Amino acid sequence: MASLPSTMCGVTFSKTGGSDVLEYKTDLSLPKLSDSQLLIKAEIIGVNYIDTYFRSGLYPTPNFPAILGREAVGTVVQLPSFSDANVWNVSVGDRIAAFGTTGGYASYIAVDAAKLAKVPQDISASDACAACLQALTAWTLINDTYNVKSGDTILVTAAAGGVGQWIVQMAKSKGAKVIATCSTSKVDLVKSLGADVVVDYSKGEYVGKVLEETGGQGVEAVFDSVGKDTFDQSLKCVKRKGTFASFGNASGAVPPFSIARLGEKNVLLARPRLDAYLATKEELESNVKAVWDFMIKGGIKPQIHKIYKLKDVATAHDDIESRKTTGKLLLEP
Ligand code: NDP
Repeated sequence: MASLPSTMCGVTFSKTGGSDVLEYKTDLSLPKLSDSQLLIKAEIIGVNYIDTYFRSGLYPTPNFPAILGREAVGTVVQLPSFSDANVWNVSVGDRIAAFGTTGGYASYIAVDAAKLAKVPQDISASDACAACLQALTAWTLINDTYNVKSGDTILVTAAAGGVGQWIVQMAKSKGAKVIATCSTSKVDLVKSLGADVVVDYSKGEYVGKVLEETGGQGVEAVFDSVGKDTFDQSLKCVKRKGTFASFGNASGAVPPFSIARLGEKNVLLARPRLDAYLATKEELESNVKAVWDFMIKGGIKPQIHKIYKLKDVATAHDDIESRKTTGKLLLEP
């Protein structure tokens, strides 16, 4: 075991609210490991929109003070004591990507052994971190929630965002026609990713354009992460017997609605969550391998919006919530 410091830096919050509840500290105790956790020294940490939901209170945090952050790439410095450690084939010194963990905004992170993957040598720490949650989410959405096929037309909202960029590129690689929405300054970026049709939804509604592009039929599948503001429009864009994957709440949670509305076109509505697609070791390994392969074989590099200092995490939260960002926001411990 490598020698460990007695304290670490990290970002805690003791109540929910705006980004001002985030407190950078340099004297935090290192996390205590459970039998199924290992310890990593963080090299780079990911910011995800979900972090803002926990910070704001949209999603509950059971105990305060708490440390936000659900993904990081770092080096293993301490292994779990449980006897199955070798099953995961991880050793001290390995570089691993951790996803779906908690306490990620810190220089040392306790990682669940069931929520990690070794990072291939061909992928940098920043690129691997940019792919952890967002590329895996995109991959499971377009394979498990609705298996996108060549010839399908799909609709992706917030296509310049972290998850959105992956969906566009992965769906194109499967041969789909991609209609994408984003705000004005991001249109050229989304076109450059290969989207066939890009609609600037800050200038008005997109239903008309989607119906025009699909001969009035609508799309085989919608992947909507904006939530409240786009739910009704996106539902109108789904084809008869098509799929609506509502997987995020960037504009707020979708309010309750009558499921009878789905009957008009026999729409299949899904509210998928990444962790439920990675529940077994086999699921985790096969999806992670698919994402690494997509990046290495396809020569795909994630677009990094900015690498912030960990102490500046509040600015990163303000930026992602203000819709100024594209691609991945990272933190340097
Ligand atoms: P993004 O990088 O996509 O950032 C959010 C984007 O949403 C903004 O840049 C903006 O793009 C768009 N947006 C539209 N309306 C609003 C609004 N009112 N306020 C703020 N942003 C808005 O974030 P992520 O890639 O991290 O996450 C995307 C979504 O996916 C989130 O909703 C997240 O919760 C969800 N998610 C779900 C997962 C799951 O398992 N279900 C896993 C991972 C992410 P524009 O300016 O172009 O509109």
